[in-house]
Amino acid sequence: MQIKFLGTGGAFDVDYLNSAALLKFRGINLLIDCGFTVFPTLVHKSLIAKVDHILLTHLHNDHCGSLPTLLLYKSIIEKSPRPVILYPSEQFKHELFAILEPQVKDPEKYAEFVPLEQFAGITAVDTFGQHSENFQTYAYIFENETRIAYSGDLGKPEALFERLDKMPAMRTCVFHDITFNAENTGHTFYKKLLPYIANYEIFGYHCDPTQNPSDNPIRLVVYEPGLMA
Ligand SMILES: [Zn+2]
Ligand SMILES: [Zn+2]
Repeated sequence: MQIKFLGTGGAFDVDYLNSAALLKFRGINLLIDCGFTVFPTLVHKSLIAKVDHILLTHLHNDHCGSLPTLLLYKSIIEKSPRPVILYPSEQFKHELFAILEPQVKDPEKYAEFVPLEQFAGITAVDTFGQHSENFQTYAYIFENETRIAYSGDLGKPEALFERLDKMPAMRTCVFHDITFNAENTGHTFYKKLLPYIANYEIFGYHCDPTQNPSDNPIRLVVYEPGLMA
């Protein structure tokens, strides 16, 4: 299992780019999130042909904004087989269709939609309302010979770590959204992650690293060359 981030920034970030990652996992290349900077980044890094599966944490534009362009590109320019979009619930698929339909007319022509539960090794953690009020978000846990947790945008870390605590012991790396502003309740203030650093290897993302306080012991993905695409 190998994860490479395509960006580690927040919603409006054009320097550190939208948070997204490419995960090599159980024989597939899974794109996790596809915000508005992801399509150009995949093209610039010559990685777009690799993407064969796609999984979204939620439907904010910095997590799905270039998905229609990516799907059209793979069909019209690359002429590659339809990528598989794994979806965590029927409601989520319905909401994703509402975003795609005005842009690609028939989403099934450009992607194969497969329920996440049919794909072994990925657990969706429902984090509804924990990033934005009354809004659906998911964290995901990927398991093979090791375990990777990916928080998505998440203001409260408890639910994800409670789920991880209940799983059988295995080397686990947690990629967690992080903010250095205590008033930003849509993302996880770094001090809320401190109770977990003894048991988990944690890396922060979805932040402005220039605001990183000197007392933050959590490493940031952007400063880990081995984690960047
Ligand atoms: Zn975001
Ligand atoms: Zn968001």
